[in-house]
Amino acid sequence: MRAVKLYGARDVRVDDVPMPTIREDGDAIIKLAAACVCGSDLWAYRGIDPITDPITVGHEYCGVVQEVGPAVRHVKPGDFVVGSFFASDGTCEICRSGYPSGCIHRRPMGAENCQAEYLRVPLADGTLVATPELPDADLIPSLLAASDVLGTGWFAAKAAEVGPGKTVAVVGDGAVGLLGILAAKQLGAERIIAMSRHQPRQQLAREFGATDIVTERGDEGVARIKDLTHGYGAHSTLEAVGTQEAMLQAIRATRRGGHVGFVGVQHGVAIPGDELFFSQVHLHGGPAPVRAHLPELIDLIMSRTINPGRVFDLELPFDQAAEAYAAMDERRAIKALLTFDKE
Ligand SMILES: [Zn+2]
Repeated sequence: MRAVKLYGARDVRVDDVPMPTIREDGDAIIKLAAACVCGSDLWAYRGIDPITDPITVGHEYCGVVQEVGPAVRHVKPGDFVVGSFFASDGTCEICRSGYPSGCIHRRPMGAENCQAEYLRVPLADGTLVATPELPDADLIPSLLAASDVLGTGWFAAKAAEVGPGKTVAVVGDGAVGLLGILAAKQLGAERIIAMSRHQPRQQLAREFGATDIVTERGDEGVARIKDLTHGYGAHSTLEAVGTQEAMLQAIRATRRGGHVGFVGVQHGVAIPGDELFFSQVHLHGGPAPVRAHLPELIDLIMSRTINPGRVFDLELPFDQAAEAYAAMDERRAIKALLTFDKE
């Protein structure tokens, strides 16, 4: 089968690799419906760490179960399933408290080949959620989005306590930030301020429910949000970037007593303690417990209530994975979908 491998900085290749097999009793093998590139894959792509041996990339997946190990009870061959970027047992105290991405037995799916034709999923019972019936082909992008970017945007909104009557600010106009806007709208936010300086992304932000667009960044962006909220700041701020500037922008844009949901993978962020102390904001975030939200998100997608698949603005045959990475790296695409059937 074919799988994407990263050989070095900006060196993406599609290789022939052996098919995955059942290795543990709780495994499932799934045939992926499509694959995609995540913004967080770009850190490796840009060479944040030196690569000596080719590495697997990607961690988003959905598709049809082919085979299950003898211990698997909740999914069976023929089911269409969605999972998230951490496999989780679904039974430990952390899973049962709503934080499967912090499962004490979690396995990073980045260690498997998620940008590939077939995938092994460990802890299948705890990890995979089956759709009630086989989805129509046009729902595949949305179900794939649920696997990470939608689930992560959703968690950011939940962590920021988004709800009816609230004003929400969103820092970051990548797929997660945009889907955080969709989540905020779905969760009843009254006003949603998107921070974006890119026209096509502003347009999608509005389509997902943004009521205001702020193009300024840093202190100027914070000042604009204060202007729009009678000097108070937002009730809820979603941080979907993970840089120092974005984190401070999120904390400073939030009113006292408000909430920041931060889901951008942190890179070199240091928050001054005195500023945090006097900010009086709640901070909650980290790797999103996507698995906990999947049943609700799958329902919303299957009933066509939401269309998160709109974040895919580039679709390429799987063999052109290198171009998918380049397009996202150069911000020519928000998110790239890799298809298997149009070759
Ligand atoms: Zn667990």
